[in-house]
Amino acid sequence: MDNLFLHACCAPCSIFPLKDILTKSPKLSLYLWYYNPNIHPKAEYLRRRDTLAYLISDLSYIAEAAKGDSLREAVKGDFAAAAKGDSLREAAKEDIAAAALVQKPDVTLKASPYEPAPFLEKAASFKDPKERCEFCYTLRIGQAASKALSMGFKYFSTTLLFSRQQDHELIRKICRQKACYYGLEFLDEDWRLGHSQALSISKKLNIYRQNYCGCVWGDAGM
Ligand code: SF4
Repeated sequence: MDNLFLHACCAPCSIFPLKDILTKSPKLSLYLWYYNPNIHPKAEYLRRRDTLAYLISDLSYIAEAAKGDSLREAVKGDFAAAAKGDSLREAAKEDIAAAALVQKPDVTLKASPYEPAPFLEKAASFKDPKERCEFCYTLRIGQAASKALSMGFKYFSTTLLFSRQQDHELIRKICRQKACYYGLEFLDEDWRLGHSQALSISKKLNIYRQNYCGCVWGDAGM
C-alpha cells in the first residue's frame, strides 16, 4: 500500500488512525477527506473541520507516540532478557529512524463545503435512530469510496472505525460493500484499540473533543 484515501469524521477520531497508519507505512501518501453533511449546526461543522486542520498541521505527536511505544516494548523485552543490555539502545536507534520517517509525512487534508441537505432531506424520514445512523454511515462512506475511485486511489478507509460509540460492525460491513462496488481495497482496522492513547494525546494537544455524535438528533447521544 503506497497511498490511502481516508474519510475523516473529526480530529479526536483521527489521532490514532493517523498514528497507526503512518508508523506502519511512513512513506505512504495519505489523502484525508473531511466529509460530514450530518453535522449540525454549521458552527460545529467548521469547528470540527478546523480542529482537524490543526491536528494535521503538526504531526510530531506521531513520532513521540511511536517513541513511547518502542521504549515500552524495549523495557518489556529487557525484563525478559536482562542479559541483553543493549536492547534499549537498539530500540532507540530504530526509533530515531522511525521518527525521521514520520517527520515529514505526505498528508493532504481536504474538506467539503458545508452542505447538509443530502443528509437532512432523508434523515428526517427515519423513525428508528438505528436506521438513521445506517443511512448516515452509508452516505459518508459511499461518497468517500466514490471520490477515492475518481481520484485513482486503490485503498480507502474511515476514521469512524476508531469510535467506540459507533456501530463498528455495521461500518465495516458498509465499507466492504462500497469497496466491492467501487473496486477498491478496504483498510479494515480496529482502531478502537487506541482509544486510551488517543485520549491522552488529545489532552496533551488540547484538541477540542465534541460531546455529541454530530446530527441534530444525536445531540443527546446515540
Ligand atoms: S447519531 Fe451520529 S451516526 Fe447517527 S445519524 Fe446522527 S450523526 Fe449520524
